[in-house]
Amino acid sequence: MTASSYDYDALFQQALDGLKADGSYRHFADLERRAGHFPRAFHHGLGREVTVWCSNDYLGMGQHPAVLAAMHESLDRSGAGAGGTRNISGTNHEHVALERELADLHGKEAALLFNSGYLSNWATLGTIAARIKGCVVLSDEANHASMIEGIRHSRAEKQVFRHNDPVDLEARLKALPLDAPKIVAFESVYSMDGDIAPIEAFCDLADKYGAMTYLDEVHAVGLYGHQGGGVAEQLGLAHRLTVIEGTLGKGFGVVGGYISGSAALCDFVRSFASGFIFSTALPPMVAAGALASIRYLRASQEERRLHKDRVAYLRARLDEAGIPHLVNPSHIVPVMVGEAVRCRGLSDELLARFGHYIQPINYPTVARGTERLRITPGPLHSRADIDDLVGALATLWKEQGMAAAAA
Ligand code: PMP
Repeated sequence: MTASSYDYDALFQQALDGLKADGSYRHFADLERRAGHFPRAFHHGLGREVTVWCSNDYLGMGQHPAVLAAMHESLDRSGAGAGGTRNISGTNHEHVALERELADLHGKEAALLFNSGYLSNWATLGTIAARIKGCVVLSDEANHASMIEGIRHSRAEKQVFRHNDPVDLEARLKALPLDAPKIVAFESVYSMDGDIAPIEAFCDLADKYGAMTYLDEVHAVGLYGHQGGGVAEQLGLAHRLTVIEGTLGKGFGVVGGYISGSAALCDFVRSFASGFIFSTALPPMVAAGALASIRYLRASQEERRLHKDRVAYLRARLDEAGIPHLVNPSHIVPVMVGEAVRCRGLSDELLARFGHYIQPINYPTVARGTERLRITPGPLHSRADIDDLVGALATLWKEQGMAAAAA
């Protein structure tokens, strides 16, 4: 018998051609961030400096002197890597200190670090749903892929409720046996539309029906709340959530993810989650940088104040220019284009002609027909930068005959 002779590369290419045909193939910008120059970066494809408008380093902490100093100091003291998984020699003092800080930030007994926010969602939801016998997961329909994949991996029963809809959530909770263990999983700030969950209403329902609550604050930590503890902190609700999950890679500017919750819950995930147990721990310098970032943002209000100012200013200028954008209560400014090829075209023109980099957001990240330019202005964009961007957008809007928003 001879082995079948598949042309495997042709199979891969066929799948990629499908993406290219519908405009959802991803092109990566080859950027070089230069410490001290954010939001400017060198674009190697273009061979010039550009202004970045789509970074999730929302507050510019990835280049903050306090963070860089802590990382340099830790690198020189401890070296590059952690030396192992957390269980086998990889728990460095920096990890322990960071977990203490995160628990304190969210007013919880404990916290547990992961190598990314993706992994923290995947591993925690996957482990709770799989290991707590009969657990039913109630998941907001707009939840991030990391939560969806974790829940799927657990093979637990899942109920998907309508986005941000307490009425639908209650109907589903009511239909489940009162004594079944349950977990309600949702986000605070949704990354693409920038809307915010009705956290208190969800907590009330969870209490009424005896469910745990799992809140992803990835797009909120560092940015919301007096100490940067997220929307739950801002609303005084942190104590009502069973788990608050976050990232160290966005508002805090470094990399890594975490959960915070009761000591028993964190110990349980630490002890059973393979995505935590069997992976080399984050480098100590990463933990040291994140710790410096969190401590800095707990004490300083200036970055959050400037951030709000820039977001409000961008919205006002877009309104004046008649450029349609989604109105929401957060810092995310989605300029709606509504068609994949046009969205990519606008992004290309903005970059090539005006030096503004905004990655187009297409299906499957957002639904077809809602393709957009997702703008995340930060404290390091000046008002003049914003004027320049809106001027460029207005020129392209006019040239391409795109509909203006109603005044
Ligand atoms: N949750 C949400 C809502 C996200 O948008 C993301 C990343 N974009 C993650 C989790 C994953 O976080 P990280 O980037 O730290 O892996």
